[in-house]
Amino acid sequence: MKTAVLFGTRPEAIKMAPVLRTLRSNPDFEVLSVSSGQHDELLKPLEGLLELDVDVNLGLMRHGQNLSDLVSRGISRISDALQEHKPDALLVHGDTSTAFAGALAAFYNGIPVGHVEAGLRTWNMKSPWPEESNRRLIAPIATWNLSPTNACRNNLLSENIDDSTITVTGNTVIDSLLWMDQKVKSTDLVEQYEEKHADLLEHRHLVLVTSHRRENFGSRMRGVYETLARLADERPDCIIVFPMHLNPNARKPALEVMGDRKNVRLIEPLEYSEFVYLMGISDLIITDSGGVQEEAPSLKTPVLVTRDTTERPEALDTGIVKLVGTDPEKIWAESNAILDASESIAEQNINNPYGDGHASQRIADALQA
Ligand code: UDP
Repeated sequence: MKTAVLFGTRPEAIKMAPVLRTLRSNPDFEVLSVSSGQHDELLKPLEGLLELDVDVNLGLMRHGQNLSDLVSRGISRISDALQEHKPDALLVHGDTSTAFAGALAAFYNGIPVGHVEAGLRTWNMKSPWPEESNRRLIAPIATWNLSPTNACRNNLLSENIDDSTITVTGNTVIDSLLWMDQKVKSTDLVEQYEEKHADLLEHRHLVLVTSHRRENFGSRMRGVYETLARLADERPDCIIVFPMHLNPNARKPALEVMGDRKNVRLIEPLEYSEFVYLMGISDLIITDSGGVQEEAPSLKTPVLVTRDTTERPEALDTGIVKLVGTDPEKIWAESNAILDASESIAEQNINNPYGDGHASQRIADALQA
């Protein structure tokens, strides 16, 4: 089965890498690794680390492009690539414009689509925007809806998506996380990172932050940063490490509000291996990222999600992930509560509801069934 695997953003690459590796190791599959180039700068450093071995790069990234430009050029370029390489199936991932354009291009070309990470819903078309609509639009045209959890399957059934298209696989991000965690611990990367970050451990608490969601841009994001600055000022026992997203809407206010503090490190995006290491040694993660919410329970690190909605409610029940929105007082109170209870949290036994590390194998099985 000639299978094209499409990705274009950092989280897609992280979540599709184990699928690529699993399909490549199976002689029944011929694999074509296709990058849309949607986030070329964030993706490039991942290529070697994640063994992406890109066969086709569609170079879609253009500075200042709007969603219509991106999607229309995406459909046209992905369609050309599908006609040239003639795969038997195209796998797309999640909720990006790359995934939506790819699914539609394959559908128009009569090529079956597999949607990895299908069925997540906030039920709010404006949050996250445009990701919720991208996900919903792919489901009815997918031949394989590959859902991380039972709740995702139920979401799809409630939209009258045919049950025979749905397989519950777990989320491939856990395959990726466990693979990378093992790689870090079994190579000299662990010593490199321990040495590089030794000074972080001189502080009692490490707080790791990421922030990039479009619907938080402006005063909401600024409010989060002001709370982080207050945390740094009022809790000198903390050090805050914030690998900033490349988007200027996320990074410029961070530099303005939080710069010039000894216990705040505003740094460039980290390689996945280093980020996984830091997630593992953090006492608290404050993030609006989807992938980080899914990964952190496997490392037993508590997470505050700075969003009003989440399409990943499963971990909320475990208590390790909390949805706090962007209300400064709430973030302040919850951060302090978690930091003050760090030791007892570290002793908890938590099952990650998003996966067990074998999602990619279940995806390969579903394609062959
Ligand atoms: N990540 C990374 N380096 C960083 C920050 C995040 O490798 O500096 C990883 C993180 O572990 C997760 C993914 O990037 O797997 C999340 O990407 P992002 O937050 O950009 O997207 P989202 O998950 O919100 O779609």
